[in-house]
Amino acid sequence: MSADAIQEGPPDLIEPARKIFAGPIAFLRSAPSLEHLPDATVPEIAFAGRSNVGKSSLLNALTNRGGLARTSNTPGRTQELNFFDVGEPLRFRLVDMPGYGFAKAPPQMVRKWRFLVNDFLRGRAVLKRALVLVDSRHGVKEVDREIFEMLDRAAVSYHLVLTKADKIKASDLAAVTRATEEEARKHPAAHPEIIATSSEGGLGIAELRAAVLGAIL
Ligand code: GDP
Repeated sequence: MSADAIQEGPPDLIEPARKIFAGPIAFLRSAPSLEHLPDATVPEIAFAGRSNVGKSSLLNALTNRGGLARTSNTPGRTQELNFFDVGEPLRFRLVDMPGYGFAKAPPQMVRKWRFLVNDFLRGRAVLKRALVLVDSRHGVKEVDREIFEMLDRAAVSYHLVLTKADKIKASDLAAVTRATEEEARKHPAAHPEIIATSSEGGLGIAELRAAVLGAIL
């Protein structure tokens, strides 16, 4: 399928999703370990990606709120799951998962990330889907495959999302989309379609909102 076709998304959900994301959304809490998780009362959608992939920027663009997810590239702050309540009454939660792949991460931090993320993915029945972000300038890297495999093993369905699409030429975006589709085909829990986004230009944001809504319906 071409990159253009992929951008269309589920059209019937675009407007309802826009409305939900324009409504109340609030930070709930940070969970540095599983004891701090909120009660599993509503569906959850998790966002994962290597540090600096543009995860905070994408969460802010999705929710139309500049300061919702704090952009931070300091390794210390990233080892927690951040929960955001969407809707009033509460419809679902967004979960900002800790970034991975810091060049200088000490081994105990990598271990902590692995246990926290793995335990969360395996034990969270309300987790409906993960969105795994991949920088469109770099494509899928070895460090991304660890989380793909964790999601495959936990049988959590996931969508690969290209970020920072405004930073590359359209022809390069088409090529990285195709390469990412190829990668997705190798993973049993990965959705076959790739969503290309730009938090700066707004490309794919409406479609991503619709994909989030589609996953919780
Ligand atoms: P995180 O570490 O994954 O949360 O990444 P951030 O959201 O903090 O983004 C990392 C850097 O990439 C920041 O300098 C952002 O301004 C930049 N960035 C993020 N998304 C985009 C995008 O869509 N387009 C462009 N041009 N820059 C982006």
